[in-house]
Amino acid sequence: AVNILEVKDLKIGFEQDKKDIAIVNGVSLQLEKGKTLGIVGESGCGKSMTSLSLMGLLPSEVDWQNGDIYIDQMQINKKSKKEWRNVRGKKIAMIFQEPMSSLNPVYKVGSQIVEMILSHEHISKKEALQRAVDMLQLVGIPRPERVVNEYPHQLSGGMRQRVMIAMALACGPEILIADEPTTALDVTIQAQILELMKDLQEKLQMSIIIITHDLGVVAEICERVIVMYAGEIVEEATVLDLFNHPLHPYTQGLLNSLPDIETEQEYLPSIEGVVPAPADMPAGCRFFDRCEYATGKCKNKPSLFTTNIGSTVRCWLYESGELKGGM
Ligand code: SF4
Ligand code: MG
Repeated sequence: AVNILEVKDLKIGFEQDKKDIAIVNGVSLQLEKGKTLGIVGESGCGKSMTSLSLMGLLPSEVDWQNGDIYIDQMQINKKSKKEWRNVRGKKIAMIFQEPMSSLNPVYKVGSQIVEMILSHEHISKKEALQRAVDMLQLVGIPRPERVVNEYPHQLSGGMRQRVMIAMALACGPEILIADEPTTALDVTIQAQILELMKDLQEKLQMSIIIITHDLGVVAEICERVIVMYAGEIVEEATVLDLFNHPLHPYTQGLLNSLPDIETEQEYLPSIEGVVPAPADMPAGCRFFDRCEYATGKCKNKPSLFTTNIGSTVRCWLYESGELKGGM
């Protein structure tokens, strides 16, 4: 399998009182060409920072402290701001949760897509507008030649998210990063957007990373999944293995918090406690304070152990690589 994206030992953080504080701490991941990888975790776990770093869009309050990123074997993190602008859109593109979406309310939908295309390609305005119409068609927007002349507020939330996807795909990126792409949408529209992403992936052979707090989204669309906790990867598995054999106590807690499909009961978060603050990370296992299996050993930092089913998990319970009974 060919990896379209590789991240090696990414560390992002900031300095406070002369101390380095990591909010992403040693994240490594691979994305296979044409596949979908989910990154799951609660807000503040570092999943959005990780994805912003892939786009060269880290906020100025944090710095890059370590790590390398390769797209198609090309190292992108050593590139200048200008070069990175080229990578963005052409190689890798991103869509955000709807309220954060980068659609500008004062410009027509068509001009925004055109502008995005022209910032990367030397084609005529007319050709760019035609491509905008084609892209809107591709993402299932009815009467695209009309919608190009509309303003974002004239569209529904679901249609706006389709426009964002059209814009992200307009320059044919190989990788699409979707950060909570459906979180702001109601359930029916959410399902439609996920369906659209699956369709597009097949049609365009795209590689996708979905960042989400929602394991339901992961089950719907991903092949592999990474679970993050407090800035670190705590488990990586195929989606099937993650649901059938959740290994890390945190992953088990997340799965227990899923709503019950039969009773449709609202879920109650079943993991007691809160994520430790970045400045206040325990030296050992970062889940220590919330873990019902914690022992003295867990005051030492566990590494990612590979288990006999192929999942990797950052927990001393799996040091031998054998799954424990009942898990
Ligand atoms: Fe719990 Fe220890 Fe595993 Fe951490 S290493 S998740 S504290 S059992
Ligand atoms: Mg986020």
